[in-house]
Amino acid sequence: MDQLREIYQRLFDRYGPRHWWPAETPFEMAVGAILTQNTNWKNVEKAIANLRAAGALSPAAICQLERAELERLINPSGFFRQKAERLQLLSCYLRDHYQGRLVSMLRQPLEPLREELLALKGVGPETADSILLYAGELPSFVVDAYTGRLFSRLGLLSGDEKYAQIRNYFSDRLPPDVALFNEYHALIVCHCKEHCRKRPLCAGCPLGEICRYRQQNP
Ligand code: SF4
Repeated sequence: MDQLREIYQRLFDRYGPRHWWPAETPFEMAVGAILTQNTNWKNVEKAIANLRAAGALSPAAICQLERAELERLINPSGFFRQKAERLQLLSCYLRDHYQGRLVSMLRQPLEPLREELLALKGVGPETADSILLYAGELPSFVVDAYTGRLFSRLGLLSGDEKYAQIRNYFSDRLPPDVALFNEYHALIVCHCKEHCRKRPLCAGCPLGEICRYRQQNP
């Protein structure tokens, strides 16, 4: 079994399916991808609940909201001024170019679509890939700080790679399988919260036998 498959299998056997990114619509997932920047998912859920209660979970509604009201609704997610601006930019872009329909935008081929998302202010690679993978169901591997930390400890990355290099590392070695990419990212996050924390809890780690850090720090 190749290394990435073995790591995936070990994590899956330990943690099981993660059932990630619960959302009612692709647009709600995209909103979540923006709101989750620099915060945890619990806070995002509160902000999304506020938007839902206000009937503001659509591009049209977000475009029309007063900025101050949008900031108030998403306040629980933190960085609410910045995120309100980003949500309105995306929503108004969809209104102006795709009749307010994210699904129309997501029908394009992956790479040009990714470039289009990255050209929007406030949409970095992690947010773009989250929108592509979770809202668009397109095989774009999502990388975050946990990914870099875990795979450098395992000895598969140096720790100096940029986002694109880490994404390519996975894309080059895994089949372009949306369900696999979805589950793999969720398992990495789960594992880094449970075991591979800033100060790793190596005892009982399902990756201990194949981890370079563990071998060097028995
Ligand atoms: S053995 Fe330790 S360093 Fe290696 S993956 Fe597990 S928790 Fe992280």
